[in-house]
Amino acid sequence: MFLRKNALERIAKERVLYERHPHGDIATCLIYPNVYRLGMANLGFQAVYQIFDRDPHVAIDRVFLPDPDERELMSTRGVPLHSFEHDRPLSDFDIIAFSISFETDYLNVLAILEMARIPLRRGERAGRHYPLIIAGGSAVFLNPEPIADFIDLFLIGEAEEMLPEFLVRYHDCRARGIPTDLRLAEMAEVEGAYLPDYFTPSYDEAGRLREVAYSGPKRPHVNRRLIRDLDKFTTSSRILTEESVFGDMYLVEASRGCQWGCRFCAAGFMYRPIRYRSPEKLVAEAERGLTERKVIGMVGAEMASVPGIASIADAVADRGGRLSPSSLKADCISPELARALARNGNNSVTIAPEAGSERMRKVINKNLTEAEILRSAHMMIGEGVENLKLYFMIGLPEEQDDDVIGIARLTAKILEQARAAKQRIGRVTISLNPFVPKPWTPFQWDPMEESRSVKRKISFLRNHLAQLGRIELDPESPREAYFQTLVSRGDRRVGRILERLNTERRYDSGAIWHGLTAIRREISSGAGDGLPDPDFFVHRAYAHEEVLPWDFIDHHIAKWFLRSERKKAHHLHQSPPCDVVRCRVCGAC
Ligand code: SF4
Repeated sequence: MFLRKNALERIAKERVLYERHPHGDIATCLIYPNVYRLGMANLGFQAVYQIFDRDPHVAIDRVFLPDPDERELMSTRGVPLHSFEHDRPLSDFDIIAFSISFETDYLNVLAILEMARIPLRRGERAGRHYPLIIAGGSAVFLNPEPIADFIDLFLIGEAEEMLPEFLVRYHDCRARGIPTDLRLAEMAEVEGAYLPDYFTPSYDEAGRLREVAYSGPKRPHVNRRLIRDLDKFTTSSRILTEESVFGDMYLVEASRGCQWGCRFCAAGFMYRPIRYRSPEKLVAEAERGLTERKVIGMVGAEMASVPGIASIADAVADRGGRLSPSSLKADCISPELARALARNGNNSVTIAPEAGSERMRKVINKNLTEAEILRSAHMMIGEGVENLKLYFMIGLPEEQDDDVIGIARLTAKILEQARAAKQRIGRVTISLNPFVPKPWTPFQWDPMEESRSVKRKISFLRNHLAQLGRIELDPESPREAYFQTLVSRGDRRVGRILERLNTERRYDSGAIWHGLTAIRREISSGAGDGLPDPDFFVHRAYAHEEVLPWDFIDHHIAKWFLRSERKKAHHLHQSPPCDVVRCRVCGAC
């Protein structure tokens, strides 16, 4: 049928770059809770797939969220979701593993379970024969609570570190004949495993989290796991397909974490301390990639600080390829890097000033001056890069209208500087993202700005940019940011909102927004069916002394440090970047 045909065509077009392992007896289905072209562009998903595939005890398969037309067809024909590679019902597997990079995909987790005809709530599956449902990935590192009622066990940490351990234990439990219902407690012994059943939240009269009672055998914290030495593992494209959103690239992960400590950025805190792959490893991986693709996509939070990046870009260009870094911090772009990136026809580069004014860049700890941004733009355009993409955020804590106008002022200066130097500049795109407060950052206590106010700011920025001519403004919708904030900062009760959205089949951003608006309206009219108010998690400042939904995870970052960073933001004080050799201040090193 149609769905199977689609899957077989996709599999036929894939190119697997490693030797696959003969199948074992633990039937495991790895799920990316979004569509195929996004899942296959995700290095984390590919890395986890290979870990499963290499385990001699595992027989691995995949599932993606069906495309909208496939979904439509499944619903009209009443067809349940089957696995991608072997067309098996999901309930046939021993383990279902969700790899979740983005918290907005939490809603898709519910949709997929339902399409697979598996009861959503853990309690409804208890005592019946269903697969063990686990979840990992960067979204659940930060805050797994919105889906805690639907998942049996989470793995909080980097998969290379803990997934093999988990599989050894699972295999051992099976070999010892431990029944499925008793296996969970054994699996929870793996360091970094989070068993939601052990943690019971309670709330005060104002609806805030009062405490989380712990009933497990160990300490009431989950120690998130990280690998120390990235060189021990290769995280690059393992399966290539042109249908992936980065289909023309071979992706290589260069680093995890970030040394700069921008106060809004989850990656800069959750992956501490910063770890880089060695230049030798990166060149070797890039060389391998060049046998498959002309473009090497270098992935990580900030690429201009990667040791040896200019010579890596040169090595790629020498072999006729092109390095495409995910994002560059303007002041770290050296003339050598600008020259190397511009070779072999690289005509677009992304720079991330994040804020338009010097004042706001101090608030967010960007450690970046206007002169540095202008210098880097001048260098890149001078070397032949035609198109610039500039990333900014809007609605940041402490932001005033003048800071937003600062985005247009800075863009005008970049254009003016290019004109004065008679440089040829092509397309300038302003990518604008509403601020979303993220757990484990100094801004975790801050609310998201009201959508109305963000929209007003976007509109007057658009008017200011219109005066500059050919500038493309690409704003993310405040409605999408609202939902992202809800699932980033929400506690376990947000699961009920997800259930409601899933029941009403509200999956795209417009439908989600209308669903959330309806819930808010019901609550304010005294109904609401026991649902929590989404605004409570989105537009409320959390108090410093409040218990936060993600407090039970130990990310090794002292809370006082995050508080002091937040205080520094209010006073426009910046902190220096990480010095992993000498510094011990935040607790992560
Ligand atoms: S201890 Fe210092 S160097 Fe290490 S992650 Fe924290 S701030 Fe950075």
